[in-house]
Amino acid sequence: MVTPPEAVPLIELRHVRKHYGGGAQPAVEVLHGVSLKIEAGEFVALVGASGSGKSTLMNLLGCLDRPSSGAYLFEGEDVAGFDADRLAALRRDTFGFVFQGYHLITRESVRENVEMPALYAGMPAAQRTERALQLLERLGLQARQDYRPHQLSGGQQQRVSIARALMNGGRIILADEPTGALDSKSGAEVLALLRELAAAGHTVILITHDRDVAAQAQRVVQIHDGHVVADSGNGVDENTAIAAPHHAHMRPAALHRTASNTAGLTESLRSSWRGMRASRVRTSLTLLGIVIGVASVIVMLAVGEGARRRVIEQMGTLGTAIMYMGSSAPATGGPRGELTPEDLEAVAELPSIRRVMPVIGNEVTVRRGSVDREVYVFAANQEMPAVHHWKVAQGRYYSEAEDRDLAPLVVLGHKAREHFFADDPHPLGKQLLIGSSPFEVVGVMAERGADSGAQDYDQMVFIPYRSGRARVYQAMTQPDYVVLEAASPADVVPAEAAVRRLLTARHGGREDFAIGNAAARLQAESATRRSLSVMLGLVAAVSLVVGGIGVMNVMLMTVRERTREIGIRMAVGARRADIQRQFLAESALMTVLGGVAGVLVSLVIGTALVLSGVAVVFSIAAILGAFAFAVVTGVVFGWMPARSAARLDPVVALVGE
Ligand code: ADP
Ligand code: MG
Repeated sequence: MVTPPEAVPLIELRHVRKHYGGGAQPAVEVLHGVSLKIEAGEFVALVGASGSGKSTLMNLLGCLDRPSSGAYLFEGEDVAGFDADRLAALRRDTFGFVFQGYHLITRESVRENVEMPALYAGMPAAQRTERALQLLERLGLQARQDYRPHQLSGGQQQRVSIARALMNGGRIILADEPTGALDSKSGAEVLALLRELAAAGHTVILITHDRDVAAQAQRVVQIHDGHVVADSGNGVDENTAIAAPHHAHMRPAALHRTASNTAGLTESLRSSWRGMRASRVRTSLTLLGIVIGVASVIVMLAVGEGARRRVIEQMGTLGTAIMYMGSSAPATGGPRGELTPEDLEAVAELPSIRRVMPVIGNEVTVRRGSVDREVYVFAANQEMPAVHHWKVAQGRYYSEAEDRDLAPLVVLGHKAREHFFADDPHPLGKQLLIGSSPFEVVGVMAERGADSGAQDYDQMVFIPYRSGRARVYQAMTQPDYVVLEAASPADVVPAEAAVRRLLTARHGGREDFAIGNAAARLQAESATRRSLSVMLGLVAAVSLVVGGIGVMNVMLMTVRERTREIGIRMAVGARRADIQRQFLAESALMTVLGGVAGVLVSLVIGTALVLSGVAVVFSIAAILGAFAFAVVTGVVFGWMPARSAARLDPVVALVGE
């Protein structure tokens, strides 16, 4: 068997230079035109003094960094043309990194650390775990799978990182001073392991400052001040090259290159949850902002809606189309006008007016037998139950004809009935003395309950308008006031104008009367309350935005604290989108939790308010809206930190604090 002379090397560097700085700082060139070919299956040591540029070279070889000039050909293809994701894919599927400082993610277990490269390769969870356990077993660490990295010795941690390097196959193992932090025994073990991997066909690139360590490799390349100064030569014989396929058993059976997003998301959420628990105090303080924001939006809107409903209820008891009219002195001066029965008849003829009810009322002594009390006697026509949306519970109301006939009839309010007929279940047909005139009870009104602010109608008695005037209120020449009901709530304003026009004409051009529009007033009040509650809701929403800014702040800190973790994830093949998704998931999770807690808190506050007698009306829309707003806030404010995490340069991130 003969290797074709023109075979493309696995890795080829052509005149690669790397300099740092530039711009404001003076540029420092670290690699001065390095050319190097590495064949598949080689075990190469790059050896050189500290500061000679070995790590810089390794970062280039591992596609963590790009050359400043010169070319890097991977299997003959210049990686200069690869975008960030393609480089990530190359790292993920081809390279396995072993660092001097192990670079394990401290929050995650040994097994999870090993699994990570396969996570970004989209391998299903079960398969991933199985393979990780297999590798850990091979490296004698199976019993430690649930340990956290800091619970292991340095040698064990380095073996974990080797297992991680092998997770996706580890075609090329890049080990940068893998024994640098280890005692000599553990160091020897790690080296033996690397030799074994090389023998199994992995390409191993070992970076060291130690010549004895380098001597373990087949080929030694010496670096001095950014130049290759010696190369023991391509030590690959045909047997090693042919041996390459034998390492197939170390490769995962199938890599699912199309990373499944749902699995990635679950993993992101799990890791986010862990992150949040790790910094509990900070997380809960941030959450507090969201909780307060969500809860106050919901409570504000609920209280506002409660107040508005109460106004509408009042409007309902009064009728939404009700106006009040009385005589008054005209604004232009002169005597009060008089609302004559003919005036009222003319008003009743207007098409926009449905009902006209003149009212006279006053406290009058009412007596039955030995019971004798001051009662408000309400004299009005037969329209009273309709105008007040009130039902007769017992007996009947008097008719228009009876009113015209000056019939001495009385209908009792619920409490009036109790006062005068406490001992008598059959008040109908019995007599009451109102003032000095006898009236016959024909009905009892249904119980009304206390109208807020209004006189207690249940205490009153109701008599026909005309007989009231004839028998009780003889001194009254005209009604105290007249209740007008428009044909519909929408007609209130035009009806008021029509009445005004008609009566002004009838009174010889003098507006010696006044019309009060209760419905319009209540409607205006309701509108004011609505805008007030919307305003309060907006103020509360501002607190939500402030909460969102808190989330952003925490996420920015998190990104900074976890820069190294981000670097590690990138080194094992996470794409920018993977990193972005992880941090976005974290801020979204935070605000979802805050939102849920906020809704719960608002319900507790709401219950407390209801118990203390405040009208509170929760709306599903407000709850969902506040919750959704919180989550959107989290995503929007988490976006920027997540993006800055995803944009980190892998090399910079890896050395980050
Ligand atoms: P080695 O790994 O051989 O010890 P490095 O590759 O880490 O050497 O560093 C080589 C030289 O490059 C050193 O002088 C170091 O100070 C410099 N260097 C490395 N990284 C940077 C950087 N990000 N910015 C500026 N100089 C750097
Ligand atoms: Mg170094």
